[in-house]
Amino acid sequence: MLLLDDPAIIKGVENRIREEMVNAEYAVSQVLSEILKRFNTIEDPYLRSRGVDVRDVGRRVMANLLGSEQEVLSSLESPVVLISRDLDPSHTAGLSKKQLFGIATDLGGSTSHTAILARSLGIPAVVALKEVAEYTLPGQTVIVDGIHGEVVLNPDPEELEYYIELKKRYDQAEAEIAMNAEMPAITLDGREIELAANIEFSQEADQVKRFGGKGIGLFRTEFIRLLSLESEDMEEVHFRAYSHVLETLTPEPVIIRTLDLGGDKFLDNIPTGESNPFLGWRGIRICLDRPDNFRPQLRAVLRASVTGNAWLMIPMVTEVSQVIAVHELLAEISASLDKEGIPHGQIPPLGMMVETPAAAIRIADYIPHVDFISIGTNDLTQYTLAVDRGSPYVSDLFDPLHPAVLELIHDVVSRCRSAGIWTGLCGQMASSPLAVPILIGFGLDELSVPITLIPDVKKMISVIDTGEALELADRALGMSSATEVRELLMEYVITRYPEIILDEIRRDVVDRG
Ligand code: PEP
Ligand code: MG
Repeated sequence: MLLLDDPAIIKGVENRIREEMVNAEYAVSQVLSEILKRFNTIEDPYLRSRGVDVRDVGRRVMANLLGSEQEVLSSLESPVVLISRDLDPSHTAGLSKKQLFGIATDLGGSTSHTAILARSLGIPAVVALKEVAEYTLPGQTVIVDGIHGEVVLNPDPEELEYYIELKKRYDQAEAEIAMNAEMPAITLDGREIELAANIEFSQEADQVKRFGGKGIGLFRTEFIRLLSLESEDMEEVHFRAYSHVLETLTPEPVIIRTLDLGGDKFLDNIPTGESNPFLGWRGIRICLDRPDNFRPQLRAVLRASVTGNAWLMIPMVTEVSQVIAVHELLAEISASLDKEGIPHGQIPPLGMMVETPAAAIRIADYIPHVDFISIGTNDLTQYTLAVDRGSPYVSDLFDPLHPAVLELIHDVVSRCRSAGIWTGLCGQMASSPLAVPILIGFGLDELSVPITLIPDVKKMISVIDTGEALELADRALGMSSATEVRELLMEYVITRYPEIILDEIRRDVVDRG
């Protein structure tokens, strides 16, 4: 206690934080190691050995600074704005809307998993700020403006007034849009688009109908795995989650995606030493290399499918043989469940995500082997443009409206349509106000979006004319840059969308020039 009260330590730490802008852990470790050095030069052996006390106190301070973060986050009782350099998916996964007013991080991109989770929890978030953590102090007044992607530190009274007014307008517009929850998603000229939900947690299924969604277009199952304990029976954990979702939403389809670990979602027993994890051991590659870990998930899907309309989808496909291997595993598992006398449904429709250029360019090779397709534009964009979806340094280059990405999506949809294969799109692009008209123009059967955005996307769909969208899509494909595509789309939506949605995209247009 006395050591911690020592002004030399406190001042030393404070000065370093103020002057060198370093974080507390670094400042404490530097100050303590300086003091320790001085102790080591003391001649008196008794006094010299008191260095041990300094080290001990230092360790405890560091443990508090470093180790208690997770505990503090999950035990938050009154809501806060969470500002951090980066967030682990497993940290964010345990949080709820009641605990957080907003999130701001230095790292990440609009499709990184922190952003995806924040969206699914309905928490305002701004990512890729590069240095917000360095400039924020605990207790500071902070505004997280998720509409425009801005964070305001220490707002002045005028700024506060502006944001209070903006929030009021936003809440009103959201309430109006949400009133259409019961209505189907229909274009101006009467074409129905299946509007489904992306979920990460089984409990989210309870909200889908309330927000006006039709089934699940993407159930990311990684969080089931990441949040469970090593000792749990994984088949049972998956089975419970799927049964709940299927039962809640029956007869609507629920697209369960097989585990997509790797990339930026790691388990402790998966090596993280790869220099390019997004190009490494990820998704279906891990599942097929470790069939004993994969089987429990497939068994759970087959067993749960008696309670609803389950579809199964494979991520990160680059080889036809991967789809064939899953077919074989499903047949084997179905036979062994029969042998064990365990009730199960039919083998569900098997689809794949198109999220690699390999799969998109050669989609014709895959069509004979799949029942449906869903385009994952988050990864398709990152792999086509060679832009890491989680890096703030290249986030301006991450753009699904890039003509290279648009052409791949267009080609996949037209080939699938001619082959009579149902095609959805479940990347973040499906809820992007500028992209929605073009996606309708391409002729997708389904768009799958975070639950909280369903009402907004329904509103967007309702003001679009299919014929015009088709023409728009054609013209966009003839352009040579995302900037031109963006201008074209802006021109189309500006007279159609409500102000609150326009407000959101104006900023994006300005930011990207
Ligand atoms: C995608 O890549 O677009 C997708 C929907 O999958 P995830 O974001 O989980 O990688
Ligand atoms: Mg993906």
